[in-house]
Amino acid sequence: MHKVMAKGILSAHNGMNLYRGCTHGCIYCDSRSLCYQMDHPFTDIEVKENAVVLLENALRHKRKRCMIGTGAMTDPYIPLEAELLHTRKCLELIDHYGFGVAIQTKSDRILRDLDLLKRINDRTKCVVEMTLTTYDENLCRILEPNVSTTKERLHVLEVMRDNKIPTVVWLSPILPWINDNEENIRGILDYCIRAKVYGIICFNMGLTLREGNREYFYENLDRYFPGLKAQYIKTYGNQYEIVSPNNKTLMELFRRTCKANDIVYNYNDIFQYMQTFEDKAVGEQMSLFDL
Ligand code: SF4
Repeated sequence: MHKVMAKGILSAHNGMNLYRGCTHGCIYCDSRSLCYQMDHPFTDIEVKENAVVLLENALRHKRKRCMIGTGAMTDPYIPLEAELLHTRKCLELIDHYGFGVAIQTKSDRILRDLDLLKRINDRTKCVVEMTLTTYDENLCRILEPNVSTTKERLHVLEVMRDNKIPTVVWLSPILPWINDNEENIRGILDYCIRAKVYGIICFNMGLTLREGNREYFYENLDRYFPGLKAQYIKTYGNQYEIVSPNNKTLMELFRRTCKANDIVYNYNDIFQYMQTFEDKAVGEQMSLFDL
């Protein structure tokens, strides 16, 4: 871990990444791609020392309250968070200043902050996003070795359901010849139905590979799935988008299942939902005036 002083914390679309780099070890991680120009080893986490101060300043000066997004590039609940509490402190600020949050993670450490997530959701809106890729727990330990397993993530989704906090699942990535089969997709979709998720984001059944993450992915294919690297190279060459040969069947299964269970699957609608700020107090006042 190393510390830096950051110049800013919120992107133009109100996204923030409190850490840079990640130790969860997912073998397909896109954030390892060289295009992100990380100037330190991926697992040597860069901590933005002044992140909390920057966020407070940014929230205080915003003219309109909005949703704040976090977790797109780095998981906000990496093990370091347990001691640094940056994510928690930022959630406290989001709560204090009356903003909403959409937070993405693969870790059940998020349960530590349930009190804050609930408070934010009571006043405005909190959406918890979880990635699910693999129904099989043993396979999950290989693909995503240092983070909560799928069953543990399901538990988080169920806790959120029980606390009326809406959830969105990222069904991605799906790796050809590894988890691109009906049994896996059905298993994950069953979990989503059980947890009553609001929506599932799935662009297609595949993954992206480019310089930086491709090498890491191939190293792990050699380690855990001997012979598969050659099949990837033969089939996809240097393609960025790697689409499963089973894409059509699996996408049909995905859409059909979502439709039958009232789960939103149009990703534009889901993004719109996660970006739309709601002030529940104002909503209540308006309904009182309506009486
Ligand atoms: S949790 Fe996300 S950022 Fe971390 S290794 Fe996995 S894919 Fe990469």
